[in-house]
Amino acid sequence: MEDERRRQLSGTSVVVLHSALIVTMDPQRRVFRNGAVAVQGDTIVAVGQSEDIISRYSSLSPQLIDLHGRFLLPGLINTHVHTSQQLGRGIADDVDLLTWLHHRIWPYESHMTEDDSYLSTLLCGIELIHSGVTCFAEAGGQHVSGMARAVEQLGIRACLTQSVMDAGEGLPASWASRTTEECIQSQKELHKKHHNTANGCIRIWFGIRQIMNSTDLLLTETRDAAKELGTGIHMHVAEIPYENQVVVDRQGVDHGTVTYLEKIELLQSNLLAAHTVWVNEHEVSLLSRRGVKVSHCPASAMKLLGFAPIREMIDAGVCVSLGTDGAPSNNRMSIVDEMYVASLINKGQEVFKQGTTDPTALPAETVLEMATINGAKTVLWDNEIGSIEAGKKADMIVIDSSSWTMVPVHDCISSLVYCMRSENIASVMCNGRWIMIDKKITTVDEEEIVGMAKKASGHLLKRAAIQIPTKMNFL
Ligand SMILES: [Zn+2]
Repeated sequence: MEDERRRQLSGTSVVVLHSALIVTMDPQRRVFRNGAVAVQGDTIVAVGQSEDIISRYSSLSPQLIDLHGRFLLPGLINTHVHTSQQLGRGIADDVDLLTWLHHRIWPYESHMTEDDSYLSTLLCGIELIHSGVTCFAEAGGQHVSGMARAVEQLGIRACLTQSVMDAGEGLPASWASRTTEECIQSQKELHKKHHNTANGCIRIWFGIRQIMNSTDLLLTETRDAAKELGTGIHMHVAEIPYENQVVVDRQGVDHGTVTYLEKIELLQSNLLAAHTVWVNEHEVSLLSRRGVKVSHCPASAMKLLGFAPIREMIDAGVCVSLGTDGAPSNNRMSIVDEMYVASLINKGQEVFKQGTTDPTALPAETVLEMATINGAKTVLWDNEIGSIEAGKKADMIVIDSSSWTMVPVHDCISSLVYCMRSENIASVMCNGRWIMIDKKITTVDEEEIVGMAKKASGHLLKRAAIQIPTKMNFL
């Protein structure tokens, strides 16, 4: 078997990254103090002690890369991000959710062109890559083809989703006229056009923006179409109490969105439920029983929504991962920051239940799982990504822990969650290709994109007539 594998490898160059502290996140949660990973093409072919791996591949004259004790981790996975909203960072701070949606975000999104979306995704992608993200789940925008173009150029991996709505108050005129059939049909066409493109790095999912903007028919048609095409559904779920109340009033169920989704059989293992803040104990057990995946976006939740019962979900066996949400609601697209915030707010939240904080809630190991292997499960891609294992895709990040932000490192796992900043992410490999080396993105021109994004965002806000009131006295 071993000889066979080596024969297959001959003729194709092998890269061996060695002398690294490797946090594999494999099922045994192995950590190699002095480890190496062999990569061929887009795939990890071996993981082990540096000496063993180097000698095993020496006859193939591999390219040896000495990581000098730096950390090697699976690429981080951001399971809820609005790439289209990057040009709208700062347009909706300190307002309630309905103002946020009706008066800022929807006018912004409905005035975007495909080129705006392309540029917004490039800008967002730059921030994602700098924070060690190799795969993300798009929460839904209008111009999926623009996003796909940017994702392919960035060299990152993504599950892209179109945002559709066929009901509800406050919708921009151009969206309000869309029929349910048009919503489903356009997503099927996007699936046909983009699914499994960019060397297999792009997948197309179905999207439901939120229940208040969906007819029953859209919900059930989405459920069936996703099943037919074998893909996932990305939906904002139970964001605010008002949403639950609307569902209770309209559908006559006794609690809210999750209870209703169970009734119409939408709670399934291919559902990625973002936020899921306002859920009761029974709904948590439903999420677990149905294998629904939850994206916890702690910073955005603190700004707009409230405390999600994350500890209860994890205890009930729900797969919980981490997301940043979009730039107008977070405003940082750093999953590194989300790891830190997730741990803190879920410890602090215990005050409401126990009368005191509980430092044992959401320990560092759990938070790291949320950002890696649970992220992979959430995007239904854990057979290929989420851990450093032979046979998986080579999505990995190199972390320089030698700067003042992390020194000294006594416990590498807690240091990754509590000390690491985006600035510690040195290099990023996605699908076997270095997309960032020594903090410089190799696939796109960062400065050029930043310049173009500044201009485009100004024009977009003017077209959408978005005013941002200020209480300060600008002279
Ligand atoms: Zn969102």
